[in-house]
Amino acid sequence: MKYLTALLLVLLPAQILSAAKWYKGNTHVHTKLCGHADSTPEVVAGWYHDRDYNFLILSEHNKFIDPATVKLKGKVRKDFILIPGEEVTGRKTIHSTAMNIDRLVPWHYDHKDRSGIIQQHVNATRDAGGTTILNHPNFGWAVKAEDVIPVKYLHMFELYNGHPSVRNFGDAHHPSTEQMWDTMLTAGMKVYGVASDDAHNFAKWGNKVSNPGRGWVMVQSESLNPDAITEAMLSGNFYSSSGVALKNVKRSKGSITIEIDNKATEKELTSDILFGTKVKAGKPGYEISFIGPEGMIVKTVHGTSATCKVPDGNAFLRGKVTLRKHRKDGTVGAYYAWTQPVFTDGR
Ligand SMILES: [Zn+2]
Ligand SMILES: [Zn+2]
Repeated sequence: MKYLTALLLVLLPAQILSAAKWYKGNTHVHTKLCGHADSTPEVVAGWYHDRDYNFLILSEHNKFIDPATVKLKGKVRKDFILIPGEEVTGRKTIHSTAMNIDRLVPWHYDHKDRSGIIQQHVNATRDAGGTTILNHPNFGWAVKAEDVIPVKYLHMFELYNGHPSVRNFGDAHHPSTEQMWDTMLTAGMKVYGVASDDAHNFAKWGNKVSNPGRGWVMVQSESLNPDAITEAMLSGNFYSSSGVALKNVKRSKGSITIEIDNKATEKELTSDILFGTKVKAGKPGYEISFIGPEGMIVKTVHGTSATCKVPDGNAFLRGKVTLRKHRKDGTVGAYYAWTQPVFTDGR
């Protein structure tokens, strides 16, 4: 009996995971209701519905759009849901997505330092039954890693945002959002990186326009409902993408395994609005890297699958896939997928 119990304990996690499916979603988008986007909630939700997304948050600036009021045209897929949310748009250019809330979250918070304002976003969102994703930290160079580190109960931030003005990759004087992530993780935060669209334009298209379809998350969950998706994301059971699709991600306590889905990636890249990130150099093709504390690269593999153990003494490890591709205009574009870290220090 003892042996059987032990066997069941070993088998159980694998069985639970095998029931989980991948769901594609976008956590950040705008509608006409904010006054500076061009389409109605129905048109915006319809765009994602018609392109095989499974969930969407209509995250309007300081407005709560009740999903029950959004009536999609035609036959609605059973595997598409709206998760209630809002973009809490407050002082000092601090914005956050309040995910899975049951009512409007206030936004008029002020504090002498930015950590205090972010903490109030988080607290108010928790009071409304939801969870916070801190948005586009480099927009207006508003938020530094040091502002985020003291914040409690914050477990997600926008690592990649598809809006053309948010400076995901920093500049000569400011770190990229990915460097900020490494700083936060190295400081001991349990924080996951989200990719989103922050789209405002569905009627006008171009590389300088804030269009949809440029940043998304793939969430591994046993069911598709607002609570299950939110819980799965809070457990790190998702990856973020700006173009690369993965077939498999295994995050155990001691290692990460990544398997790229080349066919699905090629399909994503046929999109006319997915421009990727212009990069100066790098070998074309896939590169899988594994990154530890202080942004240290532990291992790099050129290929479509790789496994990496967390080195002894490292508190965490995360995975990243880069696809470099020559574009029609002769430049090289990069497309990414980022897995969430595994932690070995019990955080
Ligand atoms: Zn914003
Ligand atoms: Zn926004």
